[in-house]
Amino acid sequence: MDLIHRPRRLRTTAGIRNLVRETKLNKEDFIYPLFVIGGEGIKEEIPSMPGNYHCSLDQLMIEVEEIVKLGIGGILLFGIPDHKDEIGSSAWSEDGIVQQACRKIKEEYPELLLITDVCLCQYTSHGHCGTLEDGCLLNDPTLENLAKVALSHAKAGADMVAPSDMMDGRVIAIREKLDQACYDDVAIMSYSAKYASAFYGPFRDAAHSAPKQGDRKSYQMDPANSDEALREMKLDLDESADIIMVKPALAYLDIIRRAKDNFITPIAAYNVSGEYAMIKAAAEKDWVNEKAIVLEMLTSIKRAGAEIIITYWAKDAAKWINDY
Ligand SMILES: [Zn+2]
Repeated sequence: MDLIHRPRRLRTTAGIRNLVRETKLNKEDFIYPLFVIGGEGIKEEIPSMPGNYHCSLDQLMIEVEEIVKLGIGGILLFGIPDHKDEIGSSAWSEDGIVQQACRKIKEEYPELLLITDVCLCQYTSHGHCGTLEDGCLLNDPTLENLAKVALSHAKAGADMVAPSDMMDGRVIAIREKLDQACYDDVAIMSYSAKYASAFYGPFRDAAHSAPKQGDRKSYQMDPANSDEALREMKLDLDESADIIMVKPALAYLDIIRRAKDNFITPIAAYNVSGEYAMIKAAAEKDWVNEKAIVLEMLTSIKRAGAEIIITYWAKDAAKWINDY
């Protein structure tokens, strides 16, 4: 009789399955996005993202304490400013909300990995990611402003900056600015393949960053493109990005895999607000088992090739993994 191959042998017991499991989630894989606003005593739930909040700094510190206790990999900080203008100048203000938060977090939790989002769309009155002229987003004049934002975050204590704007040449502009000011140890995690995606809807609620007019298709990528993502990643790496990111995650697992196969560099994936909202809504209706589906989804993102997962489930997933 021909030898029968029996892959099922390695699925017989939980012990064997654990032993041969190829992809294991760790709480250190996760980065938790946080939204900080001015004022005091404010903790407002974001309607389309249950369990996520706009927090004033005092409330933010309570969140941060929980994150540190859970042992999550780090945080990604977004700011919602009181003041917006044409060029988004409050984004690089020394007393901006993100800068204040960075100083406070580093003072109390120096060991926590602190990453800041670097963009202008929350800070511009028109809601686009840079300087606008006659409805056109100007690339090169925006670079200097992005670099100023990154430097102000580094000065306030950020360990890593994450430019999310998709301007050409922003990584090198930021790197040079940081290096000139002796912040050469501050890393850059670049949103390299950021798609013009419908999955960002809830985030724009969260960050108050929807464009007043037009869309972001002239700078974010066409969801139909894959080779272009590799070109973007290569450019960012050539400009000395330390980590490259794919955003969103779930509809772009093939892009994550191509990144992994093509570049020897850490890869991050942003499990975005729309992915979160869809599952939350289905779970509320009892149509899916939230814990099971989220752990499966996060595993798929890691299996595709992302070592780092930015996710609104970071706290829940860390708890679920801890008492798996
Ligand atoms: Zn932006």
